[in-house]
Amino acid sequence: MILRLSTLFLRTLREDPADAEVPSHRLLVRAGYVRRAAPGIYSYLPLGWRVLRNVERVVREEMDAMGAQEVHFPALLPREPYEATNRWTEYGDNLFRLKDRKGGDYLLGPTHEEMFTLLVKDLYSSYKDLPVSLYQIQTKYRDEARPRAGLLRGREFVMKDSYSFDIDQAGLQASYDAHRDAYIRIFDRLGLSYVIVQAMSGAMGGSASEEFLANASVGEDTYVRCTTCDYAANVEAVRVPTPPAQSYDGAPAAHVEDTPDTPTIQTLVDHLNQALPREDRPWAADDTLKNVLVMLHHPDGTRAPLAIGVPGGREVDEKRLGAQVEPAEVEPFTDKDFEAHPELAKGYIGPGVLGEDNKSGIRFLVDPRVVEGSRWVTGADESGRHVVDLVAGRDFTADGTIEAAEVRPGDTCPACEEAGRDGVLESARGIEVGHIFQLGKKYAEALDLKVLDENGKLVTVTMGSYGIGPSRLVASIAENSHDDLGLVWPREVSPADVHLVATGKDAAVFEAAEELARELEQQGLTVLFDDRPKVSPGVKFKDAELIGVPTIVVAGRGVADGVFEVKDRATGERADVPRADVVAQVVQAVRG
Ligand code: ATP
Ligand code: MG
Repeated sequence: MILRLSTLFLRTLREDPADAEVPSHRLLVRAGYVRRAAPGIYSYLPLGWRVLRNVERVVREEMDAMGAQEVHFPALLPREPYEATNRWTEYGDNLFRLKDRKGGDYLLGPTHEEMFTLLVKDLYSSYKDLPVSLYQIQTKYRDEARPRAGLLRGREFVMKDSYSFDIDQAGLQASYDAHRDAYIRIFDRLGLSYVIVQAMSGAMGGSASEEFLANASVGEDTYVRCTTCDYAANVEAVRVPTPPAQSYDGAPAAHVEDTPDTPTIQTLVDHLNQALPREDRPWAADDTLKNVLVMLHHPDGTRAPLAIGVPGGREVDEKRLGAQVEPAEVEPFTDKDFEAHPELAKGYIGPGVLGEDNKSGIRFLVDPRVVEGSRWVTGADESGRHVVDLVAGRDFTADGTIEAAEVRPGDTCPACEEAGRDGVLESARGIEVGHIFQLGKKYAEALDLKVLDENGKLVTVTMGSYGIGPSRLVASIAENSHDDLGLVWPREVSPADVHLVATGKDAAVFEAAEELARELEQQGLTVLFDDRPKVSPGVKFKDAELIGVPTIVVAGRGVADGVFEVKDRATGERADVPRADVVAQVVQAVRG
């Protein structure tokens, strides 16, 4: 097919849109792929729509090839199934809720576990029906707090979601592995630079979970990878290696010390080194136990304080904490909250008052490094005083542990630790483009999806859930693949196979280009043909570079001598090619 720039519904912009912070957003708007309709809500223009559909085609082909079957659900959904799983409430402000004319409650689907589960329940009843994997490519709605970066974080976006249904864990593992393989093929075909990282399964529950992250410095997902082994994990999913318990025989009794004006870790460490120097080494921040208070806001509207004890050299990481307490949301502990708890001496809070069985009654969770026998300097619950040689397990016990302390470059790699190697972690950023996880029985239980097993006994089905974001992928690919001049599409997703530019005023050049366009079309190629009269060659070249079709053919003065220029958008390589060879050369470039 031929897309003629003289009539194509496209206007490229010379200026960057004011609201675009990241390159993919800037370029997709400037090159005429998308237009903003509202925050986080975009319209696709012809070129953008073609790219999105190309991404969807690749996803669809690989899902079909792995044996998943495509279905299609409504986006407008009734409340009841989401009530049964408590997600009507748990989803919080991210859910678009609406009422019909009779006052009935509806929502715009943010994800469709409930609907798939109920559909299978509706039609299947025996182990013989399983396994089955179903998928859809559907518009999803989430009222994201911070819609961002164009298509990267939309409030309306496209998702491929699939769900596997199996009779047992072995079956689920097989379905999970099949999805994982399909995802690898999909992202490879899309020409994406990506990494597979261990992940938390978040609000969904379940166990094994991995994310596919596009490598991108603008990504919102920070992950860590090992500098020596292939361990990579989302920061939320990192499990800190727990040191062995230590013996505290012969440890001195805990003693309270005056530490005036030491409300911060640094002032405390400085004071200790002056007033109570250690013999073996100077005091360090990680000798102290910092107790941080937050307020948890639960989906049912209740609030409860939480105290988190971390080694003083580390901050509490908001994202890690958030992932641990989900679906509750973390809010700051305000002055008013302090007023309600006079036993908390701000800046000097210690395990002396924390814990469900203790004076404050505040749940107290500590970092996994706070093992039995470890010794700490921490708040004595009086302004200006700290307690030294406080031994975990002897002098205090927490209500449990929590993985909320920040993970830092240089930290021991958990996989290497286990294997007795000494790898350390480094940090990198990416964009989550896919997520696979073993959901287990959570939804099947909530919605009572059971089938008869071989012995005629009813068993609960076990499920996997697998997402890909095609619209986010359009932006992620653009983020991965652009230069100062514009976009550089990988073959599979490019809106056209070749961009043919006719330059100058000579009618013969335009006629020759027209003829070439038709021949390329006959080869089954999609030709973006710049046939605009009275547009300068400079503007046309700039547009071709901005639009980013991987092969550019220029019909210019050389045409008189039977020569066309063929350019590779990615490498910048150019060659003068005789007319007789142009078609073959372009076909070769496109088909490989
Ligand atoms: P994030 O952590 O980025 O908010 P998520 O973990 O909530 O994403 P999932 O529920 O796992 O997302 O959804 C599956 C896929 O849908 C994601 O891997 C991503 O590719 C895509 N996706 C999720 N939210 C958005 C969004 N707001 N805009 C565009 N794509 C999205
Ligand atoms: Mg996810």
